[in-house]
Amino acid sequence: MSNCYLCVHGHFYQPSRINPFTGETPPEPEAAPYANWNERITAECYAPNAQPGPGETGSNFERISFNLGGTLAHWLDKHAHDTYEFIVAAERSYWETHGTSNGLAQPVHHTILPLARRRDKYCQIRWGIASFEHRFGHRPEGMWIPEMAVDYETLEIMVEEGILFTILSGEQVRGDQGAGAGPYRAPLPNGEEITVFLRDAELSNSLSFNMPQVAHMEEWLREQMDWRCRMGGLQIIATDGETFGHHHRQGVEVLSYILQAGQTHGYELTTLGSYLQHHPPLIDIEILENTAWSCSHRLNRWTVGCDCTPGDSRWKGALRRALDNLACEIDWIYVQEAQRLGAAPWPLRDGYIAVFLGQMDEQSFLQEHDLGHIKKEDAQRLLWLLKAQFHRQRMYASCTFFFADFDRTEPRYAIANSIQAMALIHYATGNDLSHGFRRDLKIVVSENTGQSGADVLDQILEQAEL
Ligand SMILES: [Zn+2]
Repeated sequence: MSNCYLCVHGHFYQPSRINPFTGETPPEPEAAPYANWNERITAECYAPNAQPGPGETGSNFERISFNLGGTLAHWLDKHAHDTYEFIVAAERSYWETHGTSNGLAQPVHHTILPLARRRDKYCQIRWGIASFEHRFGHRPEGMWIPEMAVDYETLEIMVEEGILFTILSGEQVRGDQGAGAGPYRAPLPNGEEITVFLRDAELSNSLSFNMPQVAHMEEWLREQMDWRCRMGGLQIIATDGETFGHHHRQGVEVLSYILQAGQTHGYELTTLGSYLQHHPPLIDIEILENTAWSCSHRLNRWTVGCDCTPGDSRWKGALRRALDNLACEIDWIYVQEAQRLGAAPWPLRDGYIAVFLGQMDEQSFLQEHDLGHIKKEDAQRLLWLLKAQFHRQRMYASCTFFFADFDRTEPRYAIANSIQAMALIHYATGNDLSHGFRRDLKIVVSENTGQSGADVLDQILEQAEL
């Protein structure tokens, strides 16, 4: 019996790129011959990893650990339903065989949680847990944190919501890492604790950024796995799921190869939940707050800019300020209205994901929250304000701030969601928040094209009226 274990974790995620006004994905010519990136990545990665290969009984999804982002899961469910069903079935089969899941939940909108206020952390984490439960039929044990961006408040809330473990990168913790990938015990300021696994950054990156061809996999395994296996314990490869087939064409076969080569190379496949069943954490570590796996400059990549992206990054801080000011206005209006109707605004918002997931209609949702008696106009107003909250959460997808320049699809998408939220506020209350937002967006300027946030706002408004 081997005492070396390998867990391959894939973070499968695409931000939503639908036009919030039409609900459709605009054509993405760069994704040709497919109509858009989601279709192309499904063909290259999601579908072949989800379906059993020729002559095989199980798929890659049945043997890896994974998280499936809410926006991607929603798209797959609607547009690539067979692939979606294969993924759900893979998790179910794992759950039934092992008594634990190989899936992790993910906060729905891929928000950089340390930058979010406390109530928004609750919202994203609760929505993520509810989405997982909706798709897989049971509560999650682990949660993937967007960009592994971590602070203690986020971890405390995750634990409060029943999450047992997460994955970070070795450079995000301080202390004895003698147990390799762990698990470790991270004591939290509130007296609770969470279990933390540490991914092997070098091993993971050797696939993400330097993936060998299938013909060279024996050599790769000898070089990368054999010495690690001699040390025993757990090894974790954690990377974007799209590495396997989209970023690297050979990725599906390479992944299958790794998943089948354990006997020859002395490792046993496992997942985080399975490993934890037999290996409780024994060593304490300290979390380095406000760090992430994809930027070594604290969280500057998503706030003021850093050397991860070249050029003038001042737009990032300016855009965040514009979104924060708008969010503050949207929240204030929502709180007033919810309280006027006798509802607790934030638990009501946390529960609203059930409507988005299609678990209940709006009327049943209001009844469940003791609001079945309110007048029809009040109900309509409150539902518009809740929908505005959904779009206001979406403004903060991490990719909005991830890249070098402002004049790209991702920031434009954040502004489109802002407009949608403002429109709903306008229907509900007659308030027009666009003047203040335009004022703040004038300061957001692209170094490449000179376009300002206000220009983008006007362009989207013009398109929306067509
Ligand atoms: Zn950076």
